Amino acid sequence: MEKLEELYSGKAKTVFRTDNPEKLVMEFRDSLTAFDGKKKSSAPKKGYYNAQISAKLFRLLEDNGIKTHFDSMLSGNEMVVDTVEIIKIEVIVRNIAAGSLTRKYPFRAGEKLDPPVLLFDYKSDEYGDPMINEDMALALRLATKEELSNIRELALRINSILLDYLDERGLLLPDFKLEFGRHKGRIVLADEISCDTCRFWDKKTGESLDKDVFRFDKGDLVAAYREVAKRIVPEINS
Ligand code: UDP
Repeated sequence: MEKLEELYSGKAKTVFRTDNPEKLVMEFRDSLTAFDGKKKSSAPKKGYYNAQISAKLFRLLEDNGIKTHFDSMLSGNEMVVDTVEIIKIEVIVRNIAAGSLTRKYPFRAGEKLDPPVLLFDYKSDEYGDPMINEDMALALRLATKEELSNIRELALRINSILLDYLDERGLLLPDFKLEFGRHKGRIVLADEISCDTCRFWDKKTGESLDKDVFRFDKGDLVAAYREVAKRIVPEINS
């Protein structure tokens, strides 16, 4: 398989066409943005850590019967993925109250959410990713009713697989974001699962080991991402 020209470049990843129309290459870059792109930076090896963490978690999910777009790794920070039609919904799963949830609703930071809370955002830079509900997703023709119920069920299954796996590695998963796509008539997990898209807290200390380190200047971002990589992908050379 040959990597060809760039198709598009987002805030932290660049997607390339390949000589196989059914496969794309997704490059995880070292650049970082937060607050709708208002805060920008970059961190050495960040792309590598995120790619390795994502690959490991995609493999874990596949082993547990969840279809994902993951194919293989082309290099340390380049992932070969199936070409899918991305559904323009960001699915947020929340297990512990953090961030905006504690400002907008009467939750204390760190409070367990039982059952987990699923939220949908409309994936649109133009409109600033506004929160939507299922009726709005239907009205915007983002997905069908069947697809939405499939996505909901998949997100909850993914959550419980990740919670068990991360717990064994001393990590809490307060919340994270998923994206899904259509591939050969079925819904598959797409995008990434990494320190950029999850909140990871150390189980013992409660310390943030994710993009919040960058968002809120909490310390050494590379050290935090490396720590998560060490726990999730101990076999890599970090
Ligand atoms: N998230 C993400 N991309 C987004 C929005 C959210 O990866 O465009 C992730 C984010 O890293 C966090 C979770 O989803 O782990 C919840 O984020 P959200 O912005 O909804 O909540 P807040 O940070 O305001 O609590």
